[in-house]
Amino acid sequence: MPLCQRVALCLRCLLPLLLPSLTHAALPRAASVPGGVAVVSLGPIAAGARPPRAWLGKQPVLVAADAGQWVGVVGLALDTPPGTYALRVDEMEQATAQGKSRSVQFRVDHKDYPAQRITLKDSSKVQLSASDLARVEGEIAAIQAIKRHWRDADDTDTDFVLPAAGRLTGRFGVRRFFNGEARSPHAGFDIASPRGGTVKSSAHGIVLATGDYFFNGQTVFVDHGNGLISMYCHLERIDVQTGETVGKGQRLGLSGMSGRATGPHLHWSVILNGAMVDPQLFVANPGRMN
Ligand SMILES: [Zn+2]
Repeated sequence: MPLCQRVALCLRCLLPLLLPSLTHAALPRAASVPGGVAVVSLGPIAAGARPPRAWLGKQPVLVAADAGQWVGVVGLALDTPPGTYALRVDEMEQATAQGKSRSVQFRVDHKDYPAQRITLKDSSKVQLSASDLARVEGEIAAIQAIKRHWRDADDTDTDFVLPAAGRLTGRFGVRRFFNGEARSPHAGFDIASPRGGTVKSSAHGIVLATGDYFFNGQTVFVDHGNGLISMYCHLERIDVQTGETVGKGQRLGLSGMSGRATGPHLHWSVILNGAMVDPQLFVANPGRMN
């Protein structure tokens, strides 16, 4: 028998053994800092056991299998103060038994993000009119609700592909000051995709919402399950509809500069348990911008 056939046979035999650990083989890189992702061990996987449920405050968090352990994959918002936090973990041993809760502590360390100071001559772009402000406040509330969305799934893919081709032009977490006034930090990743460039879904999922927002312009949210959501902004055209299933790498629309953008680019954000986290942690080779 040729070697390749024997190898194929071998792999087929081994596959059932390998699968439990392969299911979540590519977790995001752990970075237990504001804007990062904490990977918290929740204990060994017992044979036949269902994954435990884990909560950070009132927000459920993603639980994955990794090297024989259950781990909580916890998104940490940029404004998380460093310190000690605890996940509440509910064991789901038997459908009939009462789940028992325990607490698992983890640390969040300090991280310094660079500052960027921008001077704009047209102050109307810094100071919003009353009507723009009212619109923005409504949109912030709507986006907050989208960010907290939860859907149980057993196939959440955390190994993302870059959603567009182009140079990286804006890093996550940069603290921005317009004409000396502090603005919200940059909660995403900018790729210099040209007008009309293809914007792809970073993993498979379900289109959670689309919208046309004051700052973010034409935007698509894709729900990957278990509180993992990706967001694509400033699009020139949206090609998908809410509720549609999309595959990894499937086109969502075309890049542009809708909303408040100084030039065409894709702003890409990743949301985990309601927190905007660094998208680069989900990409195997973030240095490659092809
Ligand atoms: Zn951006």
